[in-house]
Formats: sequence, C-alpha cells, structure tokens
Amino acid sequence: MKVRQLSAVLAASVLTLGLAACGDSAKDGATDSGSTGSSGGKSVKIGIKFDQPGLGLKVGSDYKGFDVDVAKYVAKELGDSDITWVQSPSAQRETLLSTGQVDMIFATYSITDKRKEQVSFAGPYFIAGQDLLVRADDSSITGPDSLTGKKLCSVTGSTSAQKVKDKYPGVQLQEFGTYSECVAALVSKGVDALTTDNTILAGYASQDQYKGKLKVVGKTFSEERYGVGIKKGDTALCEKINTALKKMVDSGDWQKAVNDNLGPAGFKVDTSVNPPKPDPCS
Ligand code: GLU
Repeated sequence: MKVRQLSAVLAASVLTLGLAACGDSAKDGATDSGSTGSSGGKSVKIGIKFDQPGLGLKVGSDYKGFDVDVAKYVAKELGDSDITWVQSPSAQRETLLSTGQVDMIFATYSITDKRKEQVSFAGPYFIAGQDLLVRADDSSITGPDSLTGKKLCSVTGSTSAQKVKDKYPGVQLQEFGTYSECVAALVSKGVDALTTDNTILAGYASQDQYKGKLKVVGKTFSEERYGVGIKKGDTALCEKINTALKKMVDSGDWQKAVNDNLGPAGFKVDTSVNPPKPDPCS
C-alpha cells in the first residue's frame, strides 16, 4: 500500500514536470517533437508551428493544419513516409535548418531576401498578408496607422515584428516567442493588438474560447509569400518540392487543404494571388 501510494505521488510529479517542460518548449522551441507515419519508410524531420490553429497545431499526439497538410503531401511525393514533427518558433527557423535539426520547414515561413542569406526556399505555396487582431469591442484600431501610443504584440524573428519596427516606430512593440502568448496578452488586456499574418489571426479569432472576444481588423499591409525552408543551396531538393507543390495544386489537393483548414475560420483566400506559382530554384 505504501509503495503504491509512493508510486502514485511519483507518477503525479513526473506528469507535472512533463507538463512544465511542454510549456517551456513553446518558448525554447525545438525541444518538443513527435513522430507520426508508418515505420520502415524514409524518415524526414519537418519543422512546423505547434500553436497556430488552421496552420500548424499540435492536438494531443496529432498535428493539424494547412502547413501540416502541405508538408504531408510533399513528404509523400519525396518518398518520405516517416515524419518527425519538430516545433519551429519564428526566431529559430534559420538555425534549425542550417544545423540540420530539421530537413524542411512549413511554418507560415515568408520568403525574404534577408532569410535567403542563410537558407533556401521552395515555393511559395500560399500568399497571406499582415493584419491586426484586436478585442471585439475595440473600435479605436482600424489599421496600422491608428496604432500610435498603443501596445502591440508580435513575435521575435518574424517579418511582422520587423515591419512594425521599420514602418511604425511610434508603436510600443512587445515581442514574445510565439503568437499564442500574444493572444493571451491581448485577451488579458496586457496589449491592445496583435500583428501577424491574416491566416494566423483568423485561426485564433475562430477558436471556441475566443469566439466573440476577438476580431481581425481586415486591412492587410504586406504580402507574405509562404515558402518551404530548406538548407541553403539545396537546389535539387528545391526542384523536387516545387514539382510536388505544382502537383498538389493541379490535383485539387491544395484547394482541399485550404478548404479543410482555413474554411472553418471563415478565412477568405485572396484568389488574385493564390495559388501562387513556385519561384525558380537557385
Ligand atoms: N509569415 C511571417 C514570418 O515568416 C509571420 C508569421 C511567422 O512568424 O511565422 O515571419
């Protein structure tokens, strides 16, 4: 009896420690990973977000979202059947790729010239735009020009935070490691708005616990071209991924992935730029 009680206590404390570790990993990144898929196939490490509903979301031991579906499609085309999913926070993506901790990244990862100095990109496979998320009862924020003196949240290492620093210096910018931390701060009134891609914001606004509490402003002020991050200079892999992406569009699977994952949030895809054609690999 004593032994059984002791082991119950131990089990409980291990569980607590485990949960604490999970919480930390959202900030530290890359420490939390999970494997899905069948054994015996070629294995691949794929970087995604774990906390972005509709795009890359860890649900128990499962992974869901548009980025996850595009990643699964591409992996299958490449002959990779054993996927290990690796959490890839915005600020860590270049390092994760250049150190080989991941082979490919599908994580709302915008193609930029600055990032191309460290990594290469296949795609783009989607085009989004930067927008603002505010509390539903706030009518004072109507776009980036009405942010002066307001507290704005974004994520370290993102194009979203960089844009604010470059173009809207009068704004009080608070940077966190993940967007879900910004959402929590917005709901608790620690900040007045959250800025990042409209896709990501739509996902949060439509989550059950935030329904009616948050709204997307709906005035985009950038073009975010989502690419597949790979190790710098791997042109052969880039070509293979682009072939897979084209096939995904032509087969209708790209549209299905959009409908399945972005549809529930009522997200309106800009069809004047989507689906995009992949850039030439270089
Ligand atoms: N797409 C933007 C970026 O790559 C913002 C979203 C993100 O941080 O993942 O920086």
